[in-house]
Amino acid sequence: MKRVTALFLLSVFFTVVQVRADQDPPNFVVIFCDDLGYGDLGSFGHPTIRTPHLDRMAEEGQKWTQFYSADPVCTPSRAGLLTGRYPVRNGMSSVARVVLFPNSSGGLPQEEVTIAEMLKQKNYATAAVGKWHLGHLPRHLPMTQGFDSYYGIPYSNDMDKVSGSARYLSSDPDFYPDTTNYNVPLLEGDREIERPADQNTITRRFTEKAVAFIKANRDRPFFLYLAHSMPHIPLFTGEKFRGKSIRGVYGDVIEEIDWSVGQVLDSLRELQLDKKTVAVFSSDNGPWLAFKTHGGSAGPLRAGKGTNFEGGQRVPTIFWGPGHIKPGVVDGMGSAIDLMSTFASLAKVQTPEDRKMDSYDLSPALLGTGKSPRHEFFYWNRGVLHAVRSGPWKLHMQQRHFINYGRVVHLDKPELYNVEKDISEAYDVADTHPDIVARLLEKFRKHELDAEDSLPDQLAARIAK
Ligand code: MG
Repeated sequence: MKRVTALFLLSVFFTVVQVRADQDPPNFVVIFCDDLGYGDLGSFGHPTIRTPHLDRMAEEGQKWTQFYSADPVCTPSRAGLLTGRYPVRNGMSSVARVVLFPNSSGGLPQEEVTIAEMLKQKNYATAAVGKWHLGHLPRHLPMTQGFDSYYGIPYSNDMDKVSGSARYLSSDPDFYPDTTNYNVPLLEGDREIERPADQNTITRRFTEKAVAFIKANRDRPFFLYLAHSMPHIPLFTGEKFRGKSIRGVYGDVIEEIDWSVGQVLDSLRELQLDKKTVAVFSSDNGPWLAFKTHGGSAGPLRAGKGTNFEGGQRVPTIFWGPGHIKPGVVDGMGSAIDLMSTFASLAKVQTPEDRKMDSYDLSPALLGTGKSPRHEFFYWNRGVLHAVRSGPWKLHMQQRHFINYGRVVHLDKPELYNVEKDISEAYDVADTHPDIVARLLEKFRKHELDAEDSLPDQLAARIAK
């Protein structure tokens, strides 16, 4: 009798353990590249850059072919990802400044709720590794926005260029600059530990920090935000990757990032955390075409970084989570803005309810129980709404062209493209579809008003300085 009771209690115990394990909120890993183009991965069609780890990630997970960064440049793109809101709502997309600079005093406002802060509802361990670019002064660093720790270069790796140092030779696809030409700081927490940061080893060191964080937090839910400084110019790699890719320096850099992804996913596999982790790989904006072969490729998409053409904001995105993320190719729409609601849904926590959110829960598509709920996207540019997409249709009201980078082109009349039938935005069909132009124009105006309303006066006054 005693033995039966003991067995019974034992089985209850294991059932409870099992149920608890099933109910554990998943870990989240976001690997975010800087200026990686839509066409720069093997699995997204690049013929000469080898990305076996990312290709495996896509094979085991979901490849999203219509996924948008929140904005076509660094600072607002990151604000959108971390807050689930178009960055114009928190002053991070503005006409005053394209992105934050080393002499900026501003940053992501404290009243914003980030994914890291949201996940603290369930006591997640949180780490930011890599590029931050939402304010580099101590009052704006990741630890003020829900992250337990930070290690990285707090803004773009080309800032603080040493005056008089050699010019960047983007005309030479095999050119490696000197790392001391860029006097950027490397921070640990809010302490500067190295300056200039040795960027030759930066991808490797970010990777080591990321893996160490995963290992240290294997027994509790965690959120890792790994934002590589690469492949934003100036391009650097470790010795091991130098001169290896037939694509040149840019290929070397992507192949090191691919190695890094392999290290992160392998550590999750080894610790048997792969089945309880959702990993996302994406980019903050399209390729910086001004830097020729040192910039990436948007593949079949028009233009690149800084513009609201598809090449500026549609980015190669992969979701991975063996056993729960249903493998396949997803052609529904998604955005980095959606990570907040998606993670909230998977972790069973609440998104902020006291403000306007722009985040959709993509979990039905990820789990294979439904489709992406996102059917529209708004394209902002320096605090000004430029375009809207609804279903396959995209209406441009203003444009910023690559050749005129820095200058807005006001269109005499709106341009309309079907981006599913015409992926390169080559054929304006506004004249033959006046009804669709009118419908999208109404959405455009409505969103413009809605966004204006969402920005309190006191915030508007200290917009991205
Ligand atoms: Mg960028």
